[in-house]
Amino acid sequence: MGSNGKAENHAAELNDIISTLILPDAHSSYAESSYVIFGVPFDGTSSYRKGSRFSPNRIREAYDNLESFDPRYGTNYGEQGICDLGNLQVSENVEEVINNVEAVTGLIVKDGKIPIILGGEHSITVGAIRSFPEAYMIIVDAHSDFRNEYMGNKYNHACVTRRSLEILGRERIASIGTRSVSQEEFESEAFSEVRFIFADEVRKNGIASVIDEITSRSNGRNIYFSIDMDGIDPAFAPGVGTPEPYGLLHTDVRDLINAFAGRIVGFDIVEITPLYDNGNTVMLAAKLIQDFIGSRSKLSVKK
Ligand code: MN
Ligand code: MN
Repeated sequence: MGSNGKAENHAAELNDIISTLILPDAHSSYAESSYVIFGVPFDGTSSYRKGSRFSPNRIREAYDNLESFDPRYGTNYGEQGICDLGNLQVSENVEEVINNVEAVTGLIVKDGKIPIILGGEHSITVGAIRSFPEAYMIIVDAHSDFRNEYMGNKYNHACVTRRSLEILGRERIASIGTRSVSQEEFESEAFSEVRFIFADEVRKNGIASVIDEITSRSNGRNIYFSIDMDGIDPAFAPGVGTPEPYGLLHTDVRDLINAFAGRIVGFDIVEITPLYDNGNTVMLAAKLIQDFIGSRSKLSVKK
């Protein structure tokens, strides 16, 4: 209560006027929220184009240019129960960062809310997936990320799918948009334990057939959804750490989100490098977050 004795709450109005570097539609308190956003500004194991540590705040800034109302879903995002915690404090030690992501994600999940994580590089997903050992995992990625270790580190961002397989077990991960795999990964015995759906396969059969296949494979389980933005073609998402030609359409990824949103219990967007972006990549990331929340509101699923 202020000194004038009035207890009105103008938080939403103030939030519209003052830039606070939280997601503009994140008007909810943590207690009242359904969706909890946090950034992880870490790119310590990235090998090629570093800079994903800058992307959480750049995504928030891009989001500020989107309308709060979305005619596609008939949704006003300002009323969807979004809370933004800000950014995780990170050290240079990848294992410590992953453990902290696990701790934060675990608390959010225990409180019955859905975490939306803004990376940072892909290694942080390993911390998040530890909170969903029963889930089916959908990854969008150009790379198989299936190395057992890279640059002497098992938690390098090139090892995410391999580490996730160890947590979830076989037949519990679909990675979509694959087109970059080392020979060693390709010939490894465990490679067939993950369903890698190559980008060429998506192009040939269409995303609807991919959705059918994953619907059948995931068997009604809750879903953890991880978007490595390099899964999308560099024409749509140029600002990534490790760009790879011949990728997915942006609308393929939106279709996946629309199809599975009702079962998604955790969501992340990683590997954006704003230093190499023309602005389109962070804008697309912001829009995909809206698509996730919008799809759920349209389904009237339990939030
Ligand atoms: Mn990746
Ligand atoms: Mn990748």
